[in-house]
Amino acid sequence: MNDRHPDIVSPATVVEASADVTAVDWDWFMSRVRAAVEGGRELSVTAQGRITSDPYRVLVATLISLRTRDEVTEKAAERLFILADSPRKMVELGVSAVSGAIFPANYYPTKAARIVDVSRLIIERHGGVVPADMGALLALPGVGRKTANLVLTEGFDMDAICVDTHVHRIPNRFGLITTTTPLNTENALRKDLPVVYWKEINRVLVPFGQTVCTPVSPRCSVCPLSSGCLMRFYGPSR
Ligand code: SF4
Repeated sequence: MNDRHPDIVSPATVVEASADVTAVDWDWFMSRVRAAVEGGRELSVTAQGRITSDPYRVLVATLISLRTRDEVTEKAAERLFILADSPRKMVELGVSAVSGAIFPANYYPTKAARIVDVSRLIIERHGGVVPADMGALLALPGVGRKTANLVLTEGFDMDAICVDTHVHRIPNRFGLITTTTPLNTENALRKDLPVVYWKEINRVLVPFGQTVCTPVSPRCSVCPLSSGCLMRFYGPSR
């Protein structure tokens, strides 16, 4: 029987290895992931929050980043914030100019309209100040839990958990959680993950998921977590 997946009966061939598996926990997992990505490129949205401490910039950069490479997001946000760095200035700038500034981010015309719309609503509903509240953020068009949690962590330095595709996939593969949707993953992490790691988990798992534990053909042979990973023992079924 495996402690982390009670429904899985360990095959005799992995008895020795599973003893190692049951010894790992979130501290073990996070320390190894952190070491694996140390020295790598900081995520553009994280950098926005660290450098500016401005939730509005974090929100806009996150809206630009959806389905767009991080290097493209970083430069697009830079160009845009030179022209407008507040909700009022963004509304004055208008959709066409925003669209030109964030090109070639994917879906740039749609994102430009969304950025201006969100900026207008922040003025109308919140006096031009991004709300530090999950419900109020989710009420903005185009803002889902991933974006809202990122604004709370990187914009307001609050303890929240941003679950993107990497944060959902990797702890499931590894065997620390067993969930089928990002919302279930967020709830499981809120229950099990020590709060000290809430802000950090997205920052480290995104680059780890892009370089090592990739969605297709994860690089298990060079992975520093492989000695504790259930997928390595039971195969790529999760
Ligand atoms: S051993 Fe493979 S599946 Fe497990 S965390 Fe590493 S890369 Fe991902």
